[in-house]
Amino acid sequence: MSDKTQAIFTGDRCLSCTGCMASCPVMAAIKDYCGPKLVGPAHGRMHFAQEDIEATLEFCSNCKSCDRACPSGVAVSTLNMLKRAEYYKTHPHTQAEDMIAHGERMAKLIRKIPFGATVSNLGMGFGKALNIFDKLGLAGERNMPAYASTSFKNFFPRITQPTTGKKVVLFTGCFINDNEPQVGKAFVKVMNANGYEVLIDKAFNCCGSPLVVTGYLDEARQHADNNAARILEWKSKGISVVTPCTSCSLMLKEEYHELFGEDKFHEAAENVYDAFEFLEILQERKAFNENLKPLKQKFLYHVPCHLKSQAIGLPAANILEEAGAKVQTADAGCCGISGNYGFRKDKYEISMKIGAKLFERVKQNDFDKVISDCGTCRMQIHHGSGIKPCHPIEILAEAYS
Ligand code: SF4
Ligand code: SF4
Repeated sequence: MSDKTQAIFTGDRCLSCTGCMASCPVMAAIKDYCGPKLVGPAHGRMHFAQEDIEATLEFCSNCKSCDRACPSGVAVSTLNMLKRAEYYKTHPHTQAEDMIAHGERMAKLIRKIPFGATVSNLGMGFGKALNIFDKLGLAGERNMPAYASTSFKNFFPRITQPTTGKKVVLFTGCFINDNEPQVGKAFVKVMNANGYEVLIDKAFNCCGSPLVVTGYLDEARQHADNNAARILEWKSKGISVVTPCTSCSLMLKEEYHELFGEDKFHEAAENVYDAFEFLEILQERKAFNENLKPLKQKFLYHVPCHLKSQAIGLPAANILEEAGAKVQTADAGCCGISGNYGFRKDKYEISMKIGAKLFERVKQNDFDKVISDCGTCRMQIHHGSGIKPCHPIEILAEAYS
């Protein structure tokens, strides 16, 4: 049964206050975009009965700033994504869209080839040098995310963990599994230090976020059904699913239900936690291991949009500060990359314009390290400022050494 938190039922609540428009970073960056009120609630009000598509809908990055600004609880960004999926029912995807939406499929193919990651990384280097990405419709200025030589899931059996009665399942998402397995390793170390054994469930799919934003809604639905079934299976065993990727946690906790309705997505969401949210709960229960090396560094923290949307505060900043670190939030808005948005050739300039304030803040370099919980935010900060951030869980893992 559906309830009124499903996005399609929220459009009618729009008061036309324009709060969403004032908060939209894309609207601020490009005057051609007519903005969230028109592409979201205006279309949502019609419950998708009309045939027309607002042409500038393609500019929405799904950053969700509009949802957070809306006083009426309109799921503006998800209405946009539903409407975008309508568009692709009658319009073919480009090759670039197919590529950026199906990172999980590509990584699986590469992992089947001997030295596939190395060959692929070399190929991406040549592709960039020869301007091939640009010709495909991708942002040729960027480095594509490099594949780790061994995925996290393949490395995982080599990790020795204490056997304990307390367990969590790690949802790695694609980026941590294929590109930044060190984040998964750091997560295991932190959870072990807190008395938890970490499990992996190879039956999980990509959360589906890249599919949703690229208009592959039917495929995203298959991922949602599979992942929710797996989460509910773990829930029946009393084992939580935890992820250090803020876009994955938002998708599993909120977006599945907003997109597709059905109680099962709410029920599954109750068993999903962001990594630092989980650690903060342990802290509240006096079950957090505070036996860590004092952190003496100063961190500049870029808070991902998709963490802000979870309304769970800043658990990573709180925990690092309690361990002695100084954490300053960058307060420079969206980084601009928004998942695969900034990897599109036609969105690259917008993405960099949105991120400019953050890049300038990072370039002040008045800290020891930049931290951010989102993998593509970290890529964007590195690309725009030359300074490489890390995930806050890596800092915490070091402190448990
Ligand atoms: S999701 Fe972001 S880009 Fe899209 S309309 Fe909302 S604020 Fe603008
Ligand atoms: S902020 Fe909400 S209520 Fe105001 S115009 Fe946007 S969608 Fe409508």
